[in-house]
Amino acid sequence: MKLVLIGCPGAGKGTQAKILSNHFKIAHISTGDLLRDEIKLKTDLGLKISTIIEAGELVSDEIIEQLLSKRILNQDCKNGFILDGYPRNVSQAENLPSIVGQIDKVILISVDDSIIIERMSGRRSCSKCGQMYHINYNPPKVNGVCDMCNSKLLQRNDDTPDIVKNRLLVYHNSTSPIIDFYKSKNLLLEIDGVGNIDDISKTLIDTLQGAK
Ligand code: AMP
Repeated sequence: MKLVLIGCPGAGKGTQAKILSNHFKIAHISTGDLLRDEIKLKTDLGLKISTIIEAGELVSDEIIEQLLSKRILNQDCKNGFILDGYPRNVSQAENLPSIVGQIDKVILISVDDSIIIERMSGRRSCSKCGQMYHINYNPPKVNGVCDMCNSKLLQRNDDTPDIVKNRLLVYHNSTSPIIDFYKSKNLLLEIDGVGNIDDISKTLIDTLQGAK
């Protein structure tokens, strides 16, 4: 099973990708996480990447494709995977089959821009295991602490309102054209990303099973 999850920043791709990855026993590949791992290594490349991410811009196709090509060789991808955050433009979508083979389905999680800024300013993630929370809609049991591993929760540097506005602009200019690209290939499924996390994942799983 080779799936792609697309949607604007804050649509819930990461949260739903984790749930789908557990449900279907397939790898979760987040290109944003791959980039953040590189930043943690404090290499020259990591430094360059962090400047781009903190401005809300896209990292070059070349860097992303290198990281993805390496990740896909990992043993956990042998049953399939769910891609979260890739492709982010038409050129990446065109190159994708040469890196990972043919994709089975592409799921678009739709959320209106007006909801996104409020959603993202309350978003927190675990500094250790990456588990996602929202201070209002999905709070941890203890404020600022991960339920799973007791590590500290952090807000991403690129989740501040000004950077989120730029990320939405980049999404509409560069990423949204891939919706038509996948529609024309008859691969696109669209689901509403507003509502309860569990309800959305149920709809997602049902839609995928119905589309087999
Ligand atoms: P995400 O965690 O998916 O929201 O990604 C965070 C940031 O990483 C994005 O705003 C981009 O700067 C960068 N990024 C992630 N995936 C890609 C990609 N496929 N192409 C270019 N930049 C990316």
